[in-house]
Amino acid sequence: MAQSHSHIHANTPCSPQDVEAFLNEAETLVMRQGQRMTRIRRKVLRLLLESTEPAKAYDLLANLDGEGSAKPPTIYRALDFLQETGLAHKIESLNAYVACGHASHNHSAVFLICDTCHGAEELHATATNEALDAETSAAGFKMNRAVVEVRGTCRDCAA
Ligand SMILES: [Zn+2]
Ligand SMILES: [Zn+2]
Ligand SMILES: [Zn+2]
Repeated sequence: MAQSHSHIHANTPCSPQDVEAFLNEAETLVMRQGQRMTRIRRKVLRLLLESTEPAKAYDLLANLDGEGSAKPPTIYRALDFLQETGLAHKIESLNAYVACGHASHNHSAVFLICDTCHGAEELHATATNEALDAETSAAGFKMNRAVVEVRGTCRDCAA
């Protein structure tokens, strides 16, 4: 893969770079959570993996070929599922979704979003997760998940 902003590679990939291997690992992860990786969930995850940039729900819908009966609620349900299982994140400021290469371990999603090229890359942010965990529980708040969106200039655009 020669895409400069493929989010699969992240900074430190914890999941396979290869889409098929990634999907198989995701399936195992889902099964371990007592869930099922349905055809539509797998297809949506594949589209996220193959997308070179954060994907909008309507782009996913348009690319669900062979799943002709898929309607917006179907996509949103699949996206919700992928977020709950940690396999995808929503970037609110872009209203778009990305696959996560760190689903196998606890982390907070920290996205580095470039204001110049609009690329989004997930940072391997385990220390941020620990800090958020400590600080939210000190406030008596039980955190389920967090997505931090950091705006700036990526290394390619800064060069
Ligand atoms: Zn993640
Ligand atoms: Zn990781
Ligand atoms: Zn950039």
